[in-house]
Amino acid sequence: MQNRDLNKMFVSVITGGAGFLGSHLADYLLKKGHRVIVLDNLVTGRIENIAHLAGNEMFKFIKQDVTQYLYVSEKVDYVWHFASPASPIDYAEIPIQTLKVGSLGTHNALGLALKNKARFLLTSTSEVYGDPLQHPQREDYWGNVNTVGPRGCYDEAKRFAEAITMAYHRAHGLETRIVRIFNTYGPRMRMKDGRVVPAFVSQALRGEPITIYGQGTQTRSFCYCSDLIEGIYRLMMSEEIYPVNIGNPTELTILDFAREIIALTGAKSQLIHMELPIDDPKQRRPDISRAKHLLNWEPQISLREGLEKTIQWFAEEIQKN
Ligand code: UDP
Repeated sequence: MQNRDLNKMFVSVITGGAGFLGSHLADYLLKKGHRVIVLDNLVTGRIENIAHLAGNEMFKFIKQDVTQYLYVSEKVDYVWHFASPASPIDYAEIPIQTLKVGSLGTHNALGLALKNKARFLLTSTSEVYGDPLQHPQREDYWGNVNTVGPRGCYDEAKRFAEAITMAYHRAHGLETRIVRIFNTYGPRMRMKDGRVVPAFVSQALRGEPITIYGQGTQTRSFCYCSDLIEGIYRLMMSEEIYPVNIGNPTELTILDFAREIIALTGAKSQLIHMELPIDDPKQRRPDISRAKHLLNWEPQISLREGLEKTIQWFAEEIQKN
């Protein structure tokens, strides 16, 4: 771009920017006129997610493990800390990396923000509520987490990440934001990441059995990725220090979710039941009163519309492979 003064543009660093959500944020910020630097070690991120940005002078990719010292040569205005495995299967496979990115990685990303006097946003998670005893989940609920269970590595890493983020705010006056992300879906999820959306959609499109864990009576509430990114952007630009839930409060059982996907794909798939993973939360739905009030945000994309876009994208991916 010829007449653009690159020095006057906001510079955003996205850790985990080659992942599902990080790459959608990269697209969003570029449209807002930011320069975007993505740091990602590609453990669960994928270069395909950002391949379309190669050659864009406003975009830079640095292959970097954020648990190592972070060096960015230019002045940074915003640090968006998205790096982390996020699927239960991923963090069961790489529990130590999961703990390290939530702890050391968050520390490094905070340090990068502090050095630059940048604003910092942590992507936390509904997993900080564990298997919640309060429903729907409000931000002032402290949670019910099994520290020593298989999900403990992710849940506790994110709880530590929230604590160190608040410590940087209190001790250094760093401008910090914390979003608690609930189940989110959309294009660019990894087909085999084990989460329910890629699993059910790819099973339905291939006519394979749909794998319901347990009886399928556990509930989740699914937010389409563009709604989530809009909420996160608004949070970063707001003045709110304390955690804000971003998610879609439309709650359904996993069994009903499977039926919806079968209806939308026209699949002939059978439903089969498999063992319920340990500590699988029985219910989850965000209370989004704070996001509505503070950010004037609520989801715009219905489950049906979001699933149609997602199914279309997965169908194209299956064609390619
Ligand atoms: N699930 C399922 N079949 C699958 C994958 C997941 O029934 O093939 C269930 C899982 O037990 C959980 C819900 O779907 O109750 C959401 O799982 P996911 O891994 O997407 O995320 P979570 O919300 O548990 O972090």
